[in-house]
Amino acid sequence: MFSIILAFIILNHKLYQVSKKIVIAVDGFSSCGKSSFAKLIAKRLGYLYIDSGAMYRAVTLGFIQNGLIEDGVVKKNDLLENIKKMDVGFSFNPNSKLHETTLNGVVVEEHIRTIGVASFVSIVAAIPEVRERMVELQRKLGVDKGIVMDGRDIGTVVFPNAELKLFMTADPKIRAERRLKELLEKGQPVNFEEILANIEERDHLDQTRDVSPLRKADDAVILDNSYMTLDEQMVWVEKLIEERAK
Ligand code: C5P
Repeated sequence: MFSIILAFIILNHKLYQVSKKIVIAVDGFSSCGKSSFAKLIAKRLGYLYIDSGAMYRAVTLGFIQNGLIEDGVVKKNDLLENIKKMDVGFSFNPNSKLHETTLNGVVVEEHIRTIGVASFVSIVAAIPEVRERMVELQRKLGVDKGIVMDGRDIGTVVFPNAELKLFMTADPKIRAERRLKELLEKGQPVNFEEILANIEERDHLDQTRDVSPLRKADDAVILDNSYMTLDEQMVWVEKLIEERAK
């Protein structure tokens, strides 16, 4: 027991010893646990954590709420005007100590995690005007460094000079099982096949879209976490952070 506590203290202590502030880009496939991992890294380092997927989800929610998606197709008329009306941001929740996604000032954290939003988000995220606006906001958030951002194009487009780039992957079936558990715990009526199909479809759309497709940056380090716990991933990343933040 004592050695477990000691290892925990050493791990936390070491991660706080990094000297300069860096940008950490965490990219990868859908439902790989990017957010949980990136959030924990940010917490240990005292960095800002930004979930860029949440931003695309919030815009998608805005499109749905405004009746701009019909039969799975996004209405492109007045696109720029409509995007401008969707003010995506983050507000700090003092209870959870986390930043929550807002759309036009309203916290939408729960709403953006539904399968309804997940079904359209990759279509909305493929629209160049949407990406342009989101990338602009993301770069502003990272201007002072000391940030961990997760997404699909963070290391390739948003922060091509990030000091540390991670590219996460895991077996699609394992990813679907993890997501299923998460959504069932939230009381959403979903099944395994539906989740797996959504994950595979999003992987495909994200990799094959014309603008900023999902791909590993040449200088990114791959992490396959199919059979790794979050703690094991933290141990794995610790050395990399120390090296890059020297
Ligand atoms: O990370 P998450 O699964 O919540 O992201 C939702 C969707 O947003 C992804 O499937 C992808 O289509 C899109 N996305 C993106 N670029 C990012 C982050 C997310 O295109 N940087």
